[in-house]
Amino acid sequence: MKLSFYDLNFADLEAVLKLNNLNTSAASVLFNWHYKKKQTVQCKENIAKTSIDFFQAHYDFSLPEIDTVHESSHDKTVKFLFKLADGHKVETVLIPFHNKYSICLSSQVGCAMNCSFCFTGKQGLHRNLSTSEIVGQLIQAWCWLANNRPGEERILNIVFMGQGEPLHNFDAVKKACEIFLSKHGTSIGIQKITISTAGYIPGLKRWREEIPGVNLALSLHSTLKEKRNELIPINKKYPLTEVLNYIDQIPLQKKQFVTYEYILIKDLNDSADDAKELGELLAGKSAYINLIPFNAFPGSNYQQPEHDKIRQFKKVLDTYKIPTLIRATKGDDVLAACGQLNSKKTIQHSAQY
Ligand code: SAH
Repeated sequence: MKLSFYDLNFADLEAVLKLNNLNTSAASVLFNWHYKKKQTVQCKENIAKTSIDFFQAHYDFSLPEIDTVHESSHDKTVKFLFKLADGHKVETVLIPFHNKYSICLSSQVGCAMNCSFCFTGKQGLHRNLSTSEIVGQLIQAWCWLANNRPGEERILNIVFMGQGEPLHNFDAVKKACEIFLSKHGTSIGIQKITISTAGYIPGLKRWREEIPGVNLALSLHSTLKEKRNELIPINKKYPLTEVLNYIDQIPLQKKQFVTYEYILIKDLNDSADDAKELGELLAGKSAYINLIPFNAFPGSNYQQPEHDKIRQFKKVLDTYKIPTLIRATKGDDVLAACGQLNSKKTIQHSAQY
């Protein structure tokens, strides 16, 4: 079977060329073609015939196929369902902001974390995505914008907040980041990539050594052990205090923050006391809080708090001088909002929204 071209970072590509006695200058030509120009067919320009033949014989240039596209009717959110070579499906979301887009990438088919409030978790984990399947989501979404919203193909932020626990698939996610960061290709700034984790410590350990510049988001959701255990079962194995210890050891750049995501669920973690505990836990850290009102999905038992309650929660946090944002829900009419991604059930249920 051929290897995927999109599994190679720039250093890998140079090594492949060298090993096969080909001109290593082809690496920048290829990265420019596939990642800057986002060409989806094999490059045959400005590259020696021997290299063209080599890649044709040994590398595959196919990308995850777009199965379905859902465009929100109230904002410019677009949700893609991708079909992978083995038939599995994953979702990717383009989230609009100021005429640009953030892309929310999936890192696994399903997820092993089994968080009680998350639709993806209900699927269980099927498998990890490869680097090419992660990188392919961005290339395909970019090409879709170029074809369907010409002039709008500006994807300036990357967040690993789609399906899966990115730190549970560290190698593939790290390599995808290296490809996105490469100056020869997409050249995304390191501060424009955010990886969100439920607090998977083995991944955090590697993070500190290997990708400290990438932004980290922690799904926190409760400061209380019992409640967090209920919401995020891996809290039993990797408790919040240990997770925060690791995070505190990650060196941050100037003006770099750790984002703490806090999903607000009615009568579960939305009281003024909960806000106080959160403020006390994070005060003094380079923290940024993202409050995410719970998004319902078919079969979910939790509810979203009323607006007033959400605003009061934020007010308490303001007294701790921690920058806090209430995340606007986007794309919920196409089940593309946080926690609504579940490639198995999305389509049949989307009519309810
Ligand atoms: N596994 C990673 C990334 C995927 S979830 C993590 O846990 O961080 C990305 C964000 O969506 C997380 O903050 C998660 O807690 C949130 N989320 C999941 N389900 C949600 C729901 N039903 N409503 C609102 N946010 C949800």
